[in-house]
Amino acid sequence: MLPYAEPYRIKMIEPMIPSERSQREQWIGDARYNLFKLKSQQVFIDLLTDSGTGAMSQEQWSAMMSGDESYAGSRSFEAMKETVSELTGYPHVLPTHQGRAAENVLFSVLVKQGDVVPGNAHFDTTKGHIEFRKAKAVDCTVDEAHDTSAYHPFKGNLDMKKLENVFQTHGKDRIPLIMVTLTCNSIGGQPVSLENLKAVRELADRYGATVIFDAARFAENAYFIKTREEGYADRSIREIVLEMFSCADGMTMSSKKDGIVNIGGFIALNSESLYREASMFNILFEGYLTYGGMTGRDMAALAQGLKEATSWNYLESRVRQVAYLGEQLKSKGIPVQEPFGGHAIFVDAKRFLPDVPVEEYVAQTLALELYLESGVRAVEIGTLLADRDPETRENRHPSLEMVRLTIPRRVYTRNHMDYVAAALGNIFDRRSLITSGYRITYEPPLMRHFTVELEKVGGNVQ
Ligand SMILES: *Cc1c(COP(=O)(O)O)cnc(C)c1O
Repeated sequence: MLPYAEPYRIKMIEPMIPSERSQREQWIGDARYNLFKLKSQQVFIDLLTDSGTGAMSQEQWSAMMSGDESYAGSRSFEAMKETVSELTGYPHVLPTHQGRAAENVLFSVLVKQGDVVPGNAHFDTTKGHIEFRKAKAVDCTVDEAHDTSAYHPFKGNLDMKKLENVFQTHGKDRIPLIMVTLTCNSIGGQPVSLENLKAVRELADRYGATVIFDAARFAENAYFIKTREEGYADRSIREIVLEMFSCADGMTMSSKKDGIVNIGGFIALNSESLYREASMFNILFEGYLTYGGMTGRDMAALAQGLKEATSWNYLESRVRQVAYLGEQLKSKGIPVQEPFGGHAIFVDAKRFLPDVPVEEYVAQTLALELYLESGVRAVEIGTLLADRDPETRENRHPSLEMVRLTIPRRVYTRNHMDYVAAALGNIFDRRSLITSGYRITYEPPLMRHFTVELEKVGGNVQ
């Protein structure tokens, strides 16, 4: 078998800026040991997020040049709507400026105080928009999702017993929708099987409930169904995508992920009456129905991006690049979450740095070591992100302290993956010398990870 190769070549380059460790020490100190506060020129390889960081194709760039900026009835909106309807089967499409805006518009119609929204580990903004309306998000993900060492091909699946239980406990009148996230970002880009989606549909039909997909990474989810689920190996990605969406009544989308564009989102729906109700909020919050916070050229690029994201060649190289990095780390003995997710590799920081106390932010300590070692920027998914308990104000220590290496779409090459793996390998070799972490000197009352300031506890051998 031949190794995979990126199915594109580079036409325009963006220089990356190498730096010395002494410079990085200065910069990260100035940034108060918060990786979000670095300037992008101070970062060599940026694995902070895959959101809006992808590279567009020549076809997308040329679509941008012919974008139609008409306020109403834009041809670019029609192109985007046509692609979305063709892929999903949903006839009604509302553009929004990004994914969270789609949530805001749709939940303005569906979710009210006292409601319960079950799902599989809701994304932060989804949960935020539910809780903002004084409703509750209930996580029904299978138990295997929370065990990095357990193998399960579809760790994003909903546990049908837990879901049924939510309906039994609260009654269907308090459950405006079931939200299924594809792939499940919050637990590491883990997919949901078609078998599970069909079971959710069946349960929803029994209770007369609505199913909405948070579909940011729907194409990556389809790739995993094709490659892991029995009976789908010979089906095309497009066929699988259509079958997935047939299990829901509609979707919210962050186009910054599998739309392969830098900004944008949308809602797509089966029901005309729901579309009409949502339209009012779309005009109020986002913009008129045929642009909703997007420019014509952005919608044109999105129409093309969605087509590319659902092609086998693209998806195979995308997911295999992520897995390639995972394999490189694994071969060095570095503890990583398995199976590998679709958009990121998660390094288990507690197992990597067992001598750093969790009170000293062990995942952040590892992410900072990686930056100092190599200029690679990753992101902490641990105690800093989990924030404090709103009542006791004590730190919430999640069971897993992770460093997420998030791979932007079509941006980096295999050499870059090798560089990241080598940098983490160097740190792994001297891990016994790393025995202390950081303490907080400033934090805001909420969402602290973006603006928190830290200082070294001391004792780190550099
Ligand atoms: C990114 C994301 C969102 C929010 O989308 P934005 O475009 O960042 O507003 C919602 N759900 C999931 C699963 C996401 O990954």
